[in-house]
Amino acid sequence: MIAEVIVDLSNESVDKIFDYNSIEGLQAGQMVQVPFGNKVIEGFCIKLKDETDVPLDKLKSVKAILTVEPIITEKMFKLAEFMRKSYHLRMVDILRLFLPAEMRGGRVHEKIKNFVVLNEEFLNDVESLNIRKNANQQHNLLCYMQANKVAEYTKVCDMFSRGAVLALEKKGVLSVCEKVVERRPKIFEIEKKDITLNEAQSQVLNKILNDDGGKFLLYGVTGSGKTEIYMRVIEDCLKRGKTAIMLVPEISLTGQVLSNFTSRFGDNVAILHSGLSSGERFDEWQRLRSGKAKIAVGVRSAIFAPLDNIGAIIIDEEHDSSYMSESNPRYNTHEVAEFRAKLDNATYILGSATPSLESYERAKEGELELLTLSERANKKQMPKIHIVDMCAEMSRGNASPFSYKFQDELKKCIDEGSQAIVFINRRGYSSFVRCVDCGYVAKCTDCDVSLVLHKEDNQLKCHFCGKRFRVLTKCPMCGSERIKQGAIGTQRVVEELQKAFPNVPIFRMDNDTTKTKNSHIEILKKFAESKPSILVGTQMVAKGHDFPDVSFVGIIDADLSLHFSDFRSNERTFQLITQVAGRSGRAQKSGTVVLQTYSPKHFVYRKAVENDYLGFFDKEINLREVTNFPPFSKMVRLLFVGDDELKVKQNLSQIYFKVKELLKQYDKDVYYYEAMNSPVKRIQNKYRYQILMRYKNSLHDEIIQQLYDIVDKNKDKKVSVFVEINQQNLS
Ligand code: ADP
Ligand code: ZN
Ligand code: ZN
Repeated sequence: MIAEVIVDLSNESVDKIFDYNSIEGLQAGQMVQVPFGNKVIEGFCIKLKDETDVPLDKLKSVKAILTVEPIITEKMFKLAEFMRKSYHLRMVDILRLFLPAEMRGGRVHEKIKNFVVLNEEFLNDVESLNIRKNANQQHNLLCYMQANKVAEYTKVCDMFSRGAVLALEKKGVLSVCEKVVERRPKIFEIEKKDITLNEAQSQVLNKILNDDGGKFLLYGVTGSGKTEIYMRVIEDCLKRGKTAIMLVPEISLTGQVLSNFTSRFGDNVAILHSGLSSGERFDEWQRLRSGKAKIAVGVRSAIFAPLDNIGAIIIDEEHDSSYMSESNPRYNTHEVAEFRAKLDNATYILGSATPSLESYERAKEGELELLTLSERANKKQMPKIHIVDMCAEMSRGNASPFSYKFQDELKKCIDEGSQAIVFINRRGYSSFVRCVDCGYVAKCTDCDVSLVLHKEDNQLKCHFCGKRFRVLTKCPMCGSERIKQGAIGTQRVVEELQKAFPNVPIFRMDNDTTKTKNSHIEILKKFAESKPSILVGTQMVAKGHDFPDVSFVGIIDADLSLHFSDFRSNERTFQLITQVAGRSGRAQKSGTVVLQTYSPKHFVYRKAVENDYLGFFDKEINLREVTNFPPFSKMVRLLFVGDDELKVKQNLSQIYFKVKELLKQYDKDVYYYEAMNSPVKRIQNKYRYQILMRYKNSLHDEIIQQLYDIVDKNKDKKVSVFVEINQQNLS
């Protein structure tokens, strides 16, 4: 037999199938070792066949099989093929997504520990043993083992002594054996809730359960009990002997969604996210593959969980931008999930309180069945949002970052012993650092962006590449000492709030405070346990959390995401405000939200205050339609990145010429195309240029394949060209 192998090297020149002589027992889907050049490397066996065109004297043989069983199924190969075609990815980059990174190259293995086990005969019987009277350690160890039967070897050695363990082993009382131990990730523990579905939830659930393999958009306001529905759907999958995948956004990893799932389904749940140690990830993945766990809950890459016979795939907070992979390999999780659901005839559910315009439009067109939950599960009112005009505040003489309304409401909340969440979409202390006299702004040496002051470690940091710089005491251009700080960030907000409420615990949650493992969980736990208390943070505080005692939410600078020059900025701002506001007033206490802005009349804010998603949708979708933006067109960006600016520009022009020729043929159905700098011209010392285009949806399959072709044929070896479709982040 001949084995088709994809070698585990991500490089254009080896992005093809290599034929090898197979060896005994090899099956498609297993990982193998093969000779390659003068090395031996790993690869994926993707197929076995009878014949090859490779001359026999050139044909090498597979050296070894690395996995006991196939780890990539036939269906997963189909999914890989779909992704290769849709996103023009290298096969090996796709296959790598299908298994824990650390598994390749054998960097992680099962964790094996020694255990001591009590021999059953000695459970009660001590007489037949001749332990010396004064051998206390042995007596104690025996007692302990009679009570516990199994114990970790190192633990009993520490508790008693290695000698005692050895002695009892010699006497045949104990035996030592190896056992695989599972490394399980930590989660935020909560009690299991017994919930009776309300009328609206029951209706929604019935619709889903009555349409096996259906495709749904569940639009339910914040706190409407969507999670409960997901859990019931999954319960039904398990009952029918099926498995399920549930995706959550990157940022709400530790949101109680995970906790709810574990408290309901116990060991049936495996958790997959970037905060796990490699051992934990490996073990969780193994539990899914072996069938020990039947539910995969995790971030976007959990869509590749090794499960068969999937009954449901659910994408929670489906509007979240983390579902779009923004670096290699780039893919759209919605599309991948939908394709995977189809392979197993699984039910496909998107859920959100603020569905993406794309998804809601699809529901309107009948491609997804729309299900609505328009009230909170406990009948609580939606929180009341007050808009504060910060210009007016300024003219009233308030120069603090907090408006009077903000201060009053926060004080009320604290006096009541409640909790508050304060949202500011910028981490660090203050945004830019500028010389008042000459206008000099501190910038990163490697990126075309200004630096952010981090007061805690007294440094300026680049938020694109992480590089650190010394804080300025003097302007390097003109020597002036009048250095001004820009708009405030999370650190500064904490500092100011602490001045106002010296005795109230204040917690900060942003990228800087959540770098270490489980730090999310620790912060949320501490916040939950202290009352009154304040949680200050970036987007991380916006999503998924269900704290019953939060009665105030403050949004410091709502405009931050609004003035981003991006066609999704209205949408993103509406989503963010609705999500943050939705953290408030979820249980007994009613919720108040103060939203500070310099554009109080903007329609996005008006609609958010009215809790009017549908009104927002109508207005925004109209705008997109008349301007031919997605979802009424495809927006494609070819991003050129390289060290040598001249080469990047030359390659850009060369490819732009071909692209122009191609798009001209489609005349009016192409709405726009242009070559230009990327908004951030340089990141980590690499220059960035782009070709942007928009064209009619129906042309996509045809045009995109030709674009891939143009890129392949004309790409400079020294330049990376990335093709992005309806991208979320165009920096
Ligand atoms: P969503 O995901 O829609 O924002 P959640 O699923 O987090 O909402 O539910 C919000 C709160 O309402 C949770 O505390 C949940 O336990 C509770 N809840 C859900 N369904 C019901 C119900 N039928 N009756 C009472 N409480 C419910
Ligand atoms: Zn200066
Ligand atoms: Zn930088």
